[in-house]
Amino acid sequence: MIRETITIAVDFDGTIVEDAYPDIGRPIIFAFDTLKKLQSQGHRLILWTYRKGRTLDEAVAFCKENGIVFYAVNNSFPEEEFDITHSRKIHADVFIDDRNIGGLKGWGEIYQQLTGEAAPAKSKTQKKGFFSFLK
Ligand SMILES: [Mg+2]
Repeated sequence: MIRETITIAVDFDGTIVEDAYPDIGRPIIFAFDTLKKLQSQGHRLILWTYRKGRTLDEAVAFCKENGIVFYAVNNSFPEEEFDITHSRKIHADVFIDDRNIGGLKGWGEIYQQLTGEAAPAKSKTQKKGFFSFLK
């Protein structure tokens, strides 16, 4: 469980949405809900993706439509300019990426691990989803 606020780098294709690059796939279940919850707890979210230019703009816009505005995009902080004298690796405390060894954990598990709260139990009667209480 996180007691301080941390910086979380999140991949896009295959992580927030199903991988349909260069198109935008369907959101992966609970991804946006979990990201919103983490942001509401004060954590910084960085979008860390291979996308650039138009496809990047589309991804950023898609996330905004779904309630997520990132602290930084493909940078460690908003004003950072890419400079070859510095490492390309961004500074983040945690990376969430479908290329993790072992694959992407389910967002329910990510939620639980990062917030220390159990992901809400699945309800057969509640068709809006487990995370509807967050909205
Ligand atoms: Mg990916």
